Amino acid sequence: MDLEHADLAPDTLTVAAGRPPRAHDAPVNAPIVLTSTYHETRIPEVGDRIYARGSNPTWDPFEEALGALEGAPLPALVFGSGLGAAAAALSLVPTGGAVVMPRHAYAGSLTLAADLAAQGRFELRTVDVADTAAVLAELHGLAARFDAGQVMLWLESPTNPMLEVAELSVLTAAAHALGAVVVADNTFNTPMVHRPLEAGVDVVLHSVTKWLAGHSDVVLGALVTADPALRGTLLTHRTLHGAIAGPFEVWLALRGLRTLALRMERSQATAAFLAHRLVDHPAVRRVRYPGLASDPGHERAAAQFNGFGGIVSIELDDVATADAVVAAVRLWIPATSLGGVESLVERRRRQPAEPATVPASLVRLSVGIENPEDLWADLDQALRVAAGG
Ligand SMILES: *Cc1c(COP(=O)(O)O)cnc(C)c1O
Repeated sequence: MDLEHADLAPDTLTVAAGRPPRAHDAPVNAPIVLTSTYHETRIPEVGDRIYARGSNPTWDPFEEALGALEGAPLPALVFGSGLGAAAAALSLVPTGGAVVMPRHAYAGSLTLAADLAAQGRFELRTVDVADTAAVLAELHGLAARFDAGQVMLWLESPTNPMLEVAELSVLTAAAHALGAVVVADNTFNTPMVHRPLEAGVDVVLHSVTKWLAGHSDVVLGALVTADPALRGTLLTHRTLHGAIAGPFEVWLALRGLRTLALRMERSQATAAFLAHRLVDHPAVRRVRYPGLASDPGHERAAAQFNGFGGIVSIELDDVATADAVVAAVRLWIPATSLGGVESLVERRRRQPAEPATVPASLVRLSVGIENPEDLWADLDQALRVAAGG
């Protein structure tokens, strides 16, 4: 008898889910299928593959594994990028509806939503997602003006790069009571740290580019839902808008996913180690990391999550010092993005789209899997050079 996914722990699922059926001489890994179309020996029926914009066998094992990891009874949907997945999720808002987003959500998601709002697709409201009362007030205000089903609550927790932590279950329950649909961007946590569907969220979004694929070599996105009707709508959107993933990228993402549990464990342990040392560093003005007992999001993160993630944000004295730190690292790589095996460092506000409320001297650290003392030594020398020079 086959193993049931529900009986397996997440770290086992990363390895065991999405394998070809056990049969003598069968491969252990799913193959990459490069095809744009499929043989038809009869008139196609619903569910037949037909054409590769609609489906590719290489997507299936990845979608099965990610769905199982998020605790969904349905496979995930893979997209050509995280923002492709975000665009599909936003398409669930009826024209003339409204979207509530964290003011410090990922800058690309905010820019996309603002662009759609400017075109008149929906009204966009931004909130401090860590301020539960403020989010509830915004939702109630919208409920007075919009019909049920016209409002979407977009959650991202922790936020990128401010690492603010939202009360996901409380906000989701309140949104549902008002008839709103809830999307949660789970890119930072990954299902190893938190499974938003268990908090009642309707749709989970991933930039697979980051921790899930984990090697900074692909751009991919995904959506996960436990609702068959929502999944059907999102699948139709993917097929018709065409933001599909290449088979090779998805194959690489599944290969990366196999080591997600180990990578996250290591990145989180090193992130905590670095955060604690950075707190005492004379050149660092403030450390944001939910794993620090002093962090405003600490208690919520400890109560809701199974870990504190692999991202640490630090604030320096000023922009020049922050840029000097980024220029002085030799092991850390100055680059945008996050969640790879290699540690990356970036001053976020150098990007014009970054919200102005993100401090200009904030540097985001994406902690990889290198030796922790090597990472510390490089960061320490860069901070000293920046502070002294
Ligand atoms: C990178 C990122 C995205 C966008 O994903 P892409 O794969 O770059 O399109 C969305 N949300 C978060 C939190 C991200 O970090």
